[in-house]
Amino acid sequence: MKHVLMAVSGPSGVGKGSIVKTIISRREDIVESVSCTTRPPREGEVNGREYFFLSHEEFQKRIEEKDFLEYDEHFGNYYGTPKSFVLETLKTKSVIMEIDVVGSLQAKEVYPDCVLVMIVPPSLEELKRRLIGRGTEDMEKIENRLARIEYELSHKDKYDYVIVNDDLETAIKEVEKIFDRE
Ligand code: ADP
Ligand code: 5GP
Repeated sequence: MKHVLMAVSGPSGVGKGSIVKTIISRREDIVESVSCTTRPPREGEVNGREYFFLSHEEFQKRIEEKDFLEYDEHFGNYYGTPKSFVLETLKTKSVIMEIDVVGSLQAKEVYPDCVLVMIVPPSLEELKRRLIGRGTEDMEKIENRLARIEYELSHKDKYDYVIVNDDLETAIKEVEKIFDRE
C-alpha cells in the first residue's frame, strides 16, 4: 500500500485545524506532522503537540542544517516542517501537514507525489466570523490574517483539490476520500 503525503492549506480561520484534528483522531493510518515555529504558544498549546516552539536562533540553525522539508515566514514568525520526521513516518503511514501555500508548493518540489489540498470558506464574511469567533487573536492580528487571504486563494489553480468548508463533516469526509483514492 502506498502512503500519502498531503498538504492542507487555506486562509487562517477556514477550518484546517478542525478538519485535520478530526481526521487524525479517526484514522490510525494517518499521522499529523508537527511543525516548528518561532511564534509564541497560544493558551492551551503544548510544546510538541500543536508545534515545536523554537527561538529564532534555534530555527535558523535547523535551516542551516537542512532539517526542513519546507519553511516559510508569516506574521513575523517562521514555520517549518521537520523533514526527517515526515520521510521516516511515510515508510509506514500517511502524513498530513497543515501548512501555508508557499510551504505546500515548496513541499511539492521536494516531494512531487505530495497531494495539495486547499480548503476555502463558503464566503469571506463567514471566514471573518470564524476567525473572530475563535477568539485567539486580537483585531490587529485578525486584520493581518485577512489581508493574506487573497494571496492564498490566488494559488488555487496549483492545487490538486479545492474543498469548500461549509459543513464541517462534509469537508472532513471529502479529505478522507482523497486519502483513500490516492
Ligand atoms: P484554521 O486552522 O484554518 O485557522 P480552525 O480550525 O481553528 O481554522 O477554525 C476556525 C474557527 O472556525 C474555529 O472556531 C472552528 O470551530 C470554526 N469552524 C471550523 N469549521 C467550521 C464550519 N464548517 N462551520 C462553522 N464553524 C467552523
Ligand atoms: P498559526 O499561527 O495560526 O498556527 O498558523 C499560521 C499559518 O502558518 C497557517 O497558515 C498555517 O497553515 C501555517 N503553518 C503552520 N505550520 C507550518 C509549516 O510547517 N510550514 C509552513 N510553511 N506554514 C505553516
